[in-house]
Amino acid sequence: VKVVKNVVCPFCGTLCDDIEVLVEDGHIVGTRNACRIGNAKFMHYEGSVRYDSPLMRENKKDEFKKVDYETAIEETARLLVESKLPLIYGWSSAECHAQQLGVLLGEKVNGVLDNTASVCHGPSLLAVQDVGYPVATLGETKNRADTVLFWGSNPMHAHPRHMSRYSVFARGFFRERGRKDRQMIVVDPRKTDTAKLADVHLQVEPHKDYELVSAMRAALKGFKIESDYVAGIPTETVYEAVDLCKNAQFGTLFFSMGVTMSRGKHRIIDNAIQLIVDLNAHTKFSLMPMRGHYNVNGFNQVSTWITGYPYGVDFSRGYPRYNPGETASNDLLQRGETDMMLNIASDPGAHFPQKALEHMVKIPLVCIDPHQTPTTELANIVMPTALTGVEVSGTAYRMDGVPIELRKVVDVPEGLLSDAEIISGLLKEVKKME
Ligand code: SF4
Repeated sequence: VKVVKNVVCPFCGTLCDDIEVLVEDGHIVGTRNACRIGNAKFMHYEGSVRYDSPLMRENKKDEFKKVDYETAIEETARLLVESKLPLIYGWSSAECHAQQLGVLLGEKVNGVLDNTASVCHGPSLLAVQDVGYPVATLGETKNRADTVLFWGSNPMHAHPRHMSRYSVFARGFFRERGRKDRQMIVVDPRKTDTAKLADVHLQVEPHKDYELVSAMRAALKGFKIESDYVAGIPTETVYEAVDLCKNAQFGTLFFSMGVTMSRGKHRIIDNAIQLIVDLNAHTKFSLMPMRGHYNVNGFNQVSTWITGYPYGVDFSRGYPRYNPGETASNDLLQRGETDMMLNIASDPGAHFPQKALEHMVKIPLVCIDPHQTPTTELANIVMPTALTGVEVSGTAYRMDGVPIELRKVVDVPEGLLSDAEIISGLLKEVKKME
């Protein structure tokens, strides 16, 4: 058995880079250091539902027929070129080079380019543009933080090694004793497995996050809160949490969809960023979104370099426009404004609202994905791809914005192309058709 060391896990935005993968006869037979989700990503990459060739069908009720990549790419390019407003969505489990080619493709076909951030941390990106981004690296948190907050996020299940590698339990340069050197605050309406580990659990009422942040800012500034409870939490506990933050030597607030999708959305994050700014008058504090897909951040970075905007970029007027609420995937699908969709490296069929799915069923849908998913079931064309971070290398951005090189562990199965090769083929074909 060969042991491939220092492999990066291509599952969540923590991008753990200390994974050891055991390979026998060109197949992965085990992993070391990975959490259960990361291990599953490596162990099930060859699952029986993995496609080994492109598939096509004219009518969505028909059976798929196997075709070659040339035919699938040519037909997809034709659909893109003939479409009035193609939507190119997904990207969060693809590497940066494929994403870069995708932005060029979106521009070439005057389409709308969007990634999964539009249904998760999109509000965080809006807030960052509104009021700035007091970020630090995960290394800073590991080595310095004595106070860690998780707001609307449950890393015990969604990012299982985050706390042991970078935040709560990690032993860092100035935090040699790990958990004993840190205080942990969790804000969540539920008693999650993460909340059970906290020193202080602020059990906020659902959709009252904005109220709680405002009260914390008021308490921090020395104002008296004239009520016994704030957002369902005893005011004394709010004061206690604020004191812990104020007296911290270094703190990080990690937040996730429990707050970005709470009522108020990006306005809550605006307010939370201002709380961090206020705390920096007393100590050193930072804030970081817990990114889900391993390279959801990468797409936002790549798209911003090229177009100026992180997601929901509309090229239909020949130049990039950005107006989430109008130009994001669900806006276009639910209003029936797009007439063709190319989905890559994501599964909107499993996660989008019913109304969006109803439109996806009506329009030509192309899906680039290694495995069978609810989205591929709705597709007219499926193009399988090699698995990035397992069979091909590439760059991905960790949740703190640090780029990390993904490793190739085993060979690409014969006959399969990578995401970048497929998008590059589509770009060439579209240019030819013009
Ligand atoms: Fe992979 Fe995330 Fe688990 Fe780390 S925490 S091993 S990146 S799934």
